[in-house]
Amino acid sequence: MENQFVIYNTISRKKEVFEPLVPGKAGLYVCGPTVYSNSHLGHARAYITFDLLFRYLTHLGYKVRYVRNITDVGHLEDEEEETGEDKISKKARLEKLEPMEVVQMYMNTFHRNMDDLNVIRPSIEPRASGHIIEQQEMIESILENGYAYESNGSIYFDVEKYNKEYNYGKLSGRNLEDIKTNTRVLDGQSEKKNSFDFALWKKATPEHIMRWPSKWSDGFPGWHLECSAMSTKYLGEQFDIHGGGMDLRFPHHECEIAQSTASQGKEAVRYWMHNNMITINGQKMARSLGNFITLDELFTGNHEVLKQAYSPMTIRFFILQAHYRSTIDFSNEALQASEKGLERLMTALQTLDKLTASKQSTVNVSELKESCLAALNDDMNSPIAIAHLFEGVKMINSLKAGNETISGEDLKELTDFYKTTVFDILGLKEENSEKSQDNEVLEGVIDLLLKLRQEAKANKDWGTADKIRNELNELGVEIKDTKDGFEWLLK
Ligand SMILES: [Zn+2]
Repeated sequence: MENQFVIYNTISRKKEVFEPLVPGKAGLYVCGPTVYSNSHLGHARAYITFDLLFRYLTHLGYKVRYVRNITDVGHLEDEEEETGEDKISKKARLEKLEPMEVVQMYMNTFHRNMDDLNVIRPSIEPRASGHIIEQQEMIESILENGYAYESNGSIYFDVEKYNKEYNYGKLSGRNLEDIKTNTRVLDGQSEKKNSFDFALWKKATPEHIMRWPSKWSDGFPGWHLECSAMSTKYLGEQFDIHGGGMDLRFPHHECEIAQSTASQGKEAVRYWMHNNMITINGQKMARSLGNFITLDELFTGNHEVLKQAYSPMTIRFFILQAHYRSTIDFSNEALQASEKGLERLMTALQTLDKLTASKQSTVNVSELKESCLAALNDDMNSPIAIAHLFEGVKMINSLKAGNETISGEDLKELTDFYKTTVFDILGLKEENSEKSQDNEVLEGVIDLLLKLRQEAKANKDWGTADKIRNELNELGVEIKDTKDGFEWLLK
């Protein structure tokens, strides 16, 4: 398995070599956000994880089609019981907005936050409300195959019937007997045959605004259906990788598997990948615990849990410093450590540009490069890859200090490797580049003025020399004459 990209497949529960369906191409579907509130740390983790995957597959030479949806209809307040208001309609009612205004507002924020985090936009970003026909077609084929039933204008998936032929629960490791004992018995009022059946189509109540006509009723699709319908539309009946947060394994992804299998007789997804969750100071992140932090709050430092603002790249680096299948605990201390680490890495990249080559190398660049890529090949082990990059930082600093030497060829290899890994694969970027460019210009201008002052002094033009010193002083530049020339600093 050396030099092959290996990923952990949630459904087989083991690491497998990634072999795409079509050589040279990779199809990737990731569940996108339900756009009814601001994006938070949990979104950052999921979409940075799959951004790393997108970037790494691209780096490996695959032509990737990355589909990530926007849920703008069908996600009800009570996910388990599939009751209550649509999350978006509720927000619209409370804010006195059109549902699509709510969608647009939070989609804009999501895009802005993701751009800040340097998360590349997907190849296709389909919206559930734009694919009602595809969803209705899928319901029809599930009905035709006998795995769904109509009840009072709504259509439900018949889990028990499906489970007789296929295995409901295979992804999450549950079996129907466990699910039965853990779900509430129906009260006789329900339209469902069994409480664990899930909705494919819901008849809209009179006050429900987001509704579409269908042969069964005026209504709306169930939440799980959009991902099955849209992944099939854009990636085909079978495709390579489906990703999402670990919390989506059940029921959402389990239902996706059941829907695809029931409509087409075979599973759609070949590799399932799930990222783990973020805890905050050891606790689950939840609105009710008051530790729910949005990305805008993180970037501005405007939340009582936060001791300071954290830049998007600090957040990104913090997330990449943990393996995507491990939990990460958020704390001010951990983020401050990431901030410092990132600065060291970026400084080393700047140092790299200033190094000069020698005839021979006393450092081993290929070994460093190979161990770093081996880590990424091993189920995207970004923390190990980053640890190797830090070994490289030590190497770069020794080269700078003159304790080691590097040949021209090796220096080029090291520079290319660092830039590719840090910028293209890990997706980090210089955040203060504009500011530091301004600083460079400023420094150049002050140096130039002080050189002119030295010339004036040499020509005994004391008037000009004093004028330059006094006016720079007034602007806050403190000048010290030394025996070799001058030094200055900003007051
Ligand atoms: Zn989904």
